[in-house]
Amino acid sequence: MNILFVASECAPFIKTGGLADVIGAVPKALAPLGAKVRILLPAYPALSAELARGREVLPLPDLLGGPARVVAVTARGLDLFLLDAPHLFDRAGNIYLGPDGTDWPDNALRFGALSQVGAQIAMGALDGWVPDLVNAHDWQAALVPAYLHAAGSAVPTVMTIHNIAFQGVFDADVLAPLGLPADMFTVDKGEYYGRFSFLKCGLMLASKVTTVSPTYARELMDPGFGMGLDGVMQARRADLTGIVNGIDLDVWNPETDPAIAAPYSARNLRKKAQNKSALQDRFGLTPDAGPLFCVISRLTTQKGLDLLLEVLPSLLAHGAQLALLGTGDKGMEQAFADAASRHAGQVGVIIGYDESLSHLMQAGSDAIVIPSRFEPCGLTQLYGLRYGTIPVVARTGGLADTVIDANLAALDAGCATGVQFAPVTAMGLEQAIARTCDLFAQPKVWAAMQRRAMRQSVGWETSARAYQTLFQALI
Ligand code: ADP
Repeated sequence: MNILFVASECAPFIKTGGLADVIGAVPKALAPLGAKVRILLPAYPALSAELARGREVLPLPDLLGGPARVVAVTARGLDLFLLDAPHLFDRAGNIYLGPDGTDWPDNALRFGALSQVGAQIAMGALDGWVPDLVNAHDWQAALVPAYLHAAGSAVPTVMTIHNIAFQGVFDADVLAPLGLPADMFTVDKGEYYGRFSFLKCGLMLASKVTTVSPTYARELMDPGFGMGLDGVMQARRADLTGIVNGIDLDVWNPETDPAIAAPYSARNLRKKAQNKSALQDRFGLTPDAGPLFCVISRLTTQKGLDLLLEVLPSLLAHGAQLALLGTGDKGMEQAFADAASRHAGQVGVIIGYDESLSHLMQAGSDAIVIPSRFEPCGLTQLYGLRYGTIPVVARTGGLADTVIDANLAALDAGCATGVQFAPVTAMGLEQAIARTCDLFAQPKVWAAMQRRAMRQSVGWETSARAYQTLFQALI
């Protein structure tokens, strides 16, 4: 079975969020099941070394306004097709945003081109390789089904939603430059309140739709979560599956992680303490013995971190500390930086993106807080479980599916792995933090939870089988 993934990010090459981790991990998990995945990815500057090593497999003399080509290369165990289109992708800075922090004005063309080339490959443009199925990820790839539909192709497609908040909505006049027929602008395809939505178009035309957790799949049909596409999701209900994300167990392994201060396992949890000391040191926190909470996140309202700011005094009153690593909303960055200077020694804040530090934080913290208002899957709670860092999570999306709340029954049955709270309010979070501190104060109960969390299966095995079954059924 040959599968083409079309996506705008792929770890370890280019990453702004969880999408990249998933694209980098699923192909490796599918390989032993007999599914060979190749990934079509824009050749951003971050991929220039791979581009230089690659082999041109498809010249594209004029791709939406400039010369382009597809280059095949195998890198870090992944088979990549790089879409080398300098007029679209060879620019410094964020892959989605210009220097002023707003979307690149030609994003419709950039990712329309990516989708168009994905569809061409699906229809046999390459010598010697043709996929049996295309899996398009998020709005940036959502026009693959549209191009295939317009060409009358029957190649099956799966549209995967990693976050429905990002939809790629543009004025309807983008259709002509994208080379799509005017009939894409109808209510059963991409028309969306007078504009053209890449994601809606992909959702309407794909053979099947998946998202990254069963709970998020249900939530997407609800107006509170569907972000205006709940009706579309209801319409596709019979073709919608939620498959929870896993993590790369080689990259996220506390026994071998080169980015942490001291390796440890569920059997020698005491060594986790050395990571805590290193982390306290790194964040300028006093070497207290109370619970150390961490946050590793984009700072946006989705992530609910404004709630954490509200309950910070209560967290500190429990004798707890906070270490936060994140970037995003400027107001929130400032608010956390202010909190750090107000509570020096107890609150440490690093504004920025630092992959290596995020590993040390997972290793050195006692708990990780994720108060998201919505969370399609979430990865940081999975890393937390693997590192014995107890997740304290909002009961939504993938957070609800992957963490077992330490209520009395679960503690009694010996199956709790974290703390969940609902509703997602400051009071809900405050009570969850209080419960966590209470559990932390019972070393035996806490250690048992940590060990259980560390043994929970968070890899890709089960989910890879679910993807494989879905793909197989379509081919
Ligand atoms: P989302 O994709 O919505 O941002 P996820 O939890 O699915 O949220 O994935 C976020 C990924 O990005 C995780 O791998 C997390 O460790 C990483 N991450 C987020 N912010 C930072 C940061 N400031 N520094 C390092 N890694 C980060």
